[in-house]
Amino acid sequence: MKYISTRNQNKNENLVSSAEAIKKGLAPDGGLYMPTEIPELSLEAVASLAKLPYEERATEILSMFLTDYDKEKLALDCRTAYGEDRFQGGAAPLVKVTDTHFSLELWHGPTCAFKDMALQIMPRLLSRALVMTEETRKAHILVATSGDTGKAALEGYRDVDGIDITVFYPVDGVSPMQKLQMATQLGENVNVCAVYGNFDDAQNGVKRIFSDKALANKAEDAGFFFSSANSINWGRLAPQIVYYVSAYCDLLNAGEISLGDKINVCVPTGNFGNIFAGYIAREMGLPIDKMICASNANCVLTDFIRGGTYDRTREFFKTMSPSMDILISSNLERLLWLLAGPEETARCMAELSANGKYTVSEEILAKLQSVFYGYCSTEEETAACLKDTFENKKYLADTHTSVAIDCYNKYVSDTGDMTKTVVVSTASPYKFPYDVCSSIGKTPENEEPAYLLGLLEELSGTKAPAALSATLSLPVRFKQVVAAPEMETVIF
Ligand SMILES: *Cc1c(COP(=O)(O)O)cnc(C)c1O
Repeated sequence: MKYISTRNQNKNENLVSSAEAIKKGLAPDGGLYMPTEIPELSLEAVASLAKLPYEERATEILSMFLTDYDKEKLALDCRTAYGEDRFQGGAAPLVKVTDTHFSLELWHGPTCAFKDMALQIMPRLLSRALVMTEETRKAHILVATSGDTGKAALEGYRDVDGIDITVFYPVDGVSPMQKLQMATQLGENVNVCAVYGNFDDAQNGVKRIFSDKALANKAEDAGFFFSSANSINWGRLAPQIVYYVSAYCDLLNAGEISLGDKINVCVPTGNFGNIFAGYIAREMGLPIDKMICASNANCVLTDFIRGGTYDRTREFFKTMSPSMDILISSNLERLLWLLAGPEETARCMAELSANGKYTVSEEILAKLQSVFYGYCSTEEETAACLKDTFENKKYLADTHTSVAIDCYNKYVSDTGDMTKTVVVSTASPYKFPYDVCSSIGKTPENEEPAYLLGLLEELSGTKAPAALSATLSLPVRFKQVVAAPEMETVIF
């Protein structure tokens, strides 16, 4: 299977293997890599996957996309990435909350956030790709994070041979707990630095470094090249397709659905990577009907899905679901490419960078709306939903998950659709203890992580994940803050 850039206008040129796509991250023309065709997943195949543990489901799905990878090696990498010592009790458990609401918990990995699902396997895929493409240089991973990606990437790449990693985060855009998790990161090949501004400033800074020829040459002279671990990398996206298939298998195994029954999914969305992976699963043939795109007060996607205009020229809100505080959802480009083709994608992306907005045709909008529903949740609604879900459904959700639950509830009350729905849960409540405690009834006295974990344990009657408690006693290693135009000084 070959991969093509979303901005490539000539479908016979510049195709690359999956190893090359993973090694490059962003395509040289600024587009994102997509497989030239989407493999088919039959219902029979789904039924056989249902009999396998998560790591084997992952091997099967990944090998359909990464056709140049040796399947035995993929199987080994999936076992290492998703095994019991990294994901205790299984990689993506599905928890029944009500008769129609099933919570797909993607935060049982080492950093307690859904980014682990991709970032525990991605470094292994890149390592293999370097060997497969006979690369002699080191890879330098650059990450812009609004919180959870940074820690998950650091943990995933830590002490991997032939790879260094630098993580940039917006100085006031992450929680104290997220900051502490990153600042205390262990490993010889890691660096962490804060950037003045918001997530988009950090992300644009990373994009600028990637597209700067002079910096690429400078890296070349120093014996390395830049690569990405952000959700624009196909190596991040492909592993996320797996848990949608896995959730469907688990619903089958639990007798909640019969083979072929349609389900809905609802996804708390920022950069559009997670929900787009679900769309690919649907395109493969997994019986998914509606996809509910849940946003917080930064409702740029809600407006797009409802009206066809993507407009990032608006006020940016800092919310209690910071990993979704995004005005440029990079992976939306991949959906546009599938729905509208390369010319239209190139036009929209050019308009987005020139004017900060674009509008798609009626025809494209109709296609989009035949699958996607856009909803958003204000800060007050998110908090109220978190409290209601905890008190009345006995389910403790984090703030991002609560945005999704609120949007799901709104969708049901608008449409009356009682289809069984997988609502994706993207972080442990203990990653956002301040806002979770405030929402369920007690505003904490300060933001000190140790106090917050204790308080949430007391209020909820649950236990903090060991991975988070352990962070509290580690020394802080990284304290640097830079302005966005100076981000490269951290690398050279
Ligand atoms: C990254 C993240 C999201 C958003 O996922 P996208 O793939 O960027 O849409 C939602 N919730 C949490 C906790 C995250 O870390």
